[in-house]
Amino acid sequence: MPELPEVEAIKLQLGKFLKGHKIIGVEIRNPKYEIPKENIIGGKVIGTRRFGKVSVIDLDNKYSILTHVKLTGQFIYRGPNLPKPKELSKKVVGGVPGPHTLVIFNLDKKGVLYYNDIRRFGWIRVEKTEDVENEKFIKKLGPEPFKDLTLKKFKTLLSKTKRPVKVVIMDQEKMGGVGNIYATDALWLAKINPRQPANDIQPQEQKKLYEAILSVLKEGIKWGGASELAFVTPDGTEGNYQGHTLAYGHTGEPCERCHKARFEKYFLGGRGTYVCPFCQK
Ligand SMILES: [Zn+2]
Repeated sequence: MPELPEVEAIKLQLGKFLKGHKIIGVEIRNPKYEIPKENIIGGKVIGTRRFGKVSVIDLDNKYSILTHVKLTGQFIYRGPNLPKPKELSKKVVGGVPGPHTLVIFNLDKKGVLYYNDIRRFGWIRVEKTEDVENEKFIKKLGPEPFKDLTLKKFKTLLSKTKRPVKVVIMDQEKMGGVGNIYATDALWLAKINPRQPANDIQPQEQKKLYEAILSVLKEGIKWGGASELAFVTPDGTEGNYQGHTLAYGHTGEPCERCHKARFEKYFLGGRGTYVCPFCQK
């Protein structure tokens, strides 16, 4: 599932491409997507925001479009703000518009925003802009790296539970934005065993982990996110972090830091976890 860097890439590109466009029509091709068209048609995009893994498109008519792409949702923009699009990624199965295009936002100046979603777990909602921060899903989100997750808050949330540290840092209600790929890499970078009870981590290690999380998220943002599963950015291309992971996906490869062990994989909380058995004892 997309994590903070992937959704940040979606938010940034949607902001760049949609800003100034007015929505002139909405075509809903799947009844699961109940979008109150009358609240957004005529609205002009003034900006985009991100809360955890939720992207928000703010309109000038006091309404906002909220969306979570979940496993396989994709927004693809075509129009004047992307004059020379690169070839569409093969991850956009069937193209746009195609059999997996569920919603089409028609924009002025010949712009179009397509929403594709093979698994259809993603959602799109419309709320009054003033209500966005009180929306159920957003209100539940914990503090977020680069926003309001201070080192102090991070230490407190670790010290309150004996659940495995990896499970805790991926819990969106404890802290927002970090999923499996970046949690795995941050724990390797901080030399912490993902199974270690969170409240057992010493202050020095807590700080190391906090800094490691910020560091891997920054790398993820730099590479435009990681294109696992179906993740593409709104320009229709893939992110590149998957080619730059530290531990994630490296089963059987030697650890480049210690040169004393090879990466092992096991499941923790149902998610594939990669560790160096020497560095992360
Ligand atoms: Zn190692």
